[in-house]
Amino acid sequence: MSSELLTAARQALKTYFGYDRFRPLQGEVVEHVLSGRDALVLMPTGGGKSVCYQVPALVSTGMCVVLSPLIALMKDQVEGLRANGVTAAFLNSSQSFEAQSQIVEEVLLAEVKLLYVSPEKALTEEFFSLLRRVKITFFAIDEAHCISAWGHDFRPEYTRLSLLRERFPEVPMIALTATADRVTRQDILTQLRLRDARTFVSSFDRPNLSLNVLPGQKRFEQVLEFIHLRPEQPGIIYCLSRKSTEELTFKLQAKGIAAAFYHAGMTDVARSRVQEDFIFDRVPVICATVAFGMGIDKSNVRWVIHYHLPQSIESYYQEIGRAGRDGRKSDTMLLFSYADVIQRRKFIAESGQPELQEAKLQRMIEYADAQICRRRILLAYFGEHLDQNCGNCDVCRRPPRRFDGTILAQKALSALMRMQENVGMGMLIDVLRGSTRRELIEKGFDKIKTYGAGADMPLAEWQHVLTQLLNLGLLEIAYEQNYTLRITPAGRAVLFDGAKVELSRREEIAPLRKEEPRTTTGPYDEKLFETLRRLRLRLAREAGIPPYQVFTDVTLEEMSRRFPESEAAMRGISGVGERKMKNYGEEFIAAIRQFRRQKP
Ligand code: ADP
Ligand code: ZN
Repeated sequence: MSSELLTAARQALKTYFGYDRFRPLQGEVVEHVLSGRDALVLMPTGGGKSVCYQVPALVSTGMCVVLSPLIALMKDQVEGLRANGVTAAFLNSSQSFEAQSQIVEEVLLAEVKLLYVSPEKALTEEFFSLLRRVKITFFAIDEAHCISAWGHDFRPEYTRLSLLRERFPEVPMIALTATADRVTRQDILTQLRLRDARTFVSSFDRPNLSLNVLPGQKRFEQVLEFIHLRPEQPGIIYCLSRKSTEELTFKLQAKGIAAAFYHAGMTDVARSRVQEDFIFDRVPVICATVAFGMGIDKSNVRWVIHYHLPQSIESYYQEIGRAGRDGRKSDTMLLFSYADVIQRRKFIAESGQPELQEAKLQRMIEYADAQICRRRILLAYFGEHLDQNCGNCDVCRRPPRRFDGTILAQKALSALMRMQENVGMGMLIDVLRGSTRRELIEKGFDKIKTYGAGADMPLAEWQHVLTQLLNLGLLEIAYEQNYTLRITPAGRAVLFDGAKVELSRREEIAPLRKEEPRTTTGPYDEKLFETLRRLRLRLAREAGIPPYQVFTDVTLEEMSRRFPESEAAMRGISGVGERKMKNYGEEFIAAIRQFRRQKP
């Protein structure tokens, strides 16, 4: 491939997107695609997949056709491209006949560089005949994992996409996805009939996301404090059930927080309204079931909370991945308790494939209860090896202190033994702490020898200890018998044969604070950032587009660090392309100048 083409690609990256350089893998993919060969690209959410096909499309003659499964996402991407001065359009069944004919006309006039289309629409004779009348540079298959029945997001219509290869054998294809497992990967290659395709795999690490797991006690208080420390920052709270999304929303609203709920039980209209309110920064907090987030490209989601335990590491990673797509620092917090495990197991019992789901849940529990760097566990799960501790998870920041927990374990196990292993975790703790609640007294548990033997330790600490005993395999939960606790043979060894138990103690539960400056590459002026954010909100409202499509948070952050007060300086900011310079450059320069003048 000519070096001129690559130079043109770099130029386009700067002109349209305002970026100075490709990310490591992007450059290679772009070069490969420009040479007219097939490719499979695996990058995590936020990795920068779109640039991999958008830039080649911009420097080639002809039109690139992008297959995309979600109408909302399609619209968002096309608007984002237009905001950068790229001629993009979409075709799907949600549009009126007139709107569709208008786009077809533009396509025929070669006025469209990137055409987004849904599979239903693309796989029609009508569309094929349109494609025959224009020059097609390549097909980009977005969310390509939808083709695999093994994946988590199977879409039957995707399996027919090989028809494109059949009808247009000479047009190269590039498939992109954020799901990397081997089966899915192979499925994509074979089903799309990619030819000598090169597979590009980037690391799935998202170093800008902080990983935090906190005990699931006083959940609401923890969440409230977390949000108060991040005023107006957009974030998502994932809950287990529809009902809990609603309840949590009302509780937050009662505390003056602008929140809304989202779940699959709502009407389409209600759901898209909530989604829009979030995208347009009108409502910052969404309490949602996993149904929320799929069709969202919003780059400035600053945090994700799991109010309950997710069902698997895959879904957990996908959900926290919705934070910080722009690469800016973002926080995630998972609230974990054994009560959630019990709830999850009830769901599993009612579902198909219980063994698989139980195995996945088990890995999730191990993660939540881990005492080593959480990022290492996550990446290992996805087959990557991290050489060092990450320094950006709760375990790295507050390493647990280890101590000899044999006596504590013996107290708990012995109390359980004396109650015929016929109580759950709550009652066991109450007995250990010498509670006088009625049920306990009625059952005569206040008469047993270990009653009150652990009164000096707070509830939360006992929960932490018992959780560890479960994870160490000294205790187990009898799911079939009302979730009562049982002592395992290993537990008996502690009770009767002098086996030792090492436990860890956590620092007291502190709400997740803003521990470090929230920067990606260095300090910046937070006041100016706030000023620019408000300016962005106003301009976005005037233009009727989401604020992050005016400029991303990363771009505002860079402005607040480098204070560009001239056109040349503004052009040097990452994310300021030609079109945005023209549309917004002046107002942002003026705001920065004014800010500097007012500053003492
Ligand atoms: P994905 O589709 O893989 O989730 P996107 O294509 O949406 O990721 O890109 C994620 C973010 O990274 C976007 O805000 C995008 O503008 C930004 N980005 C992409 N490529 C670059 C680059 N070369 N330099 C700086 N930012 C980039
Ligand atoms: Zn870590």
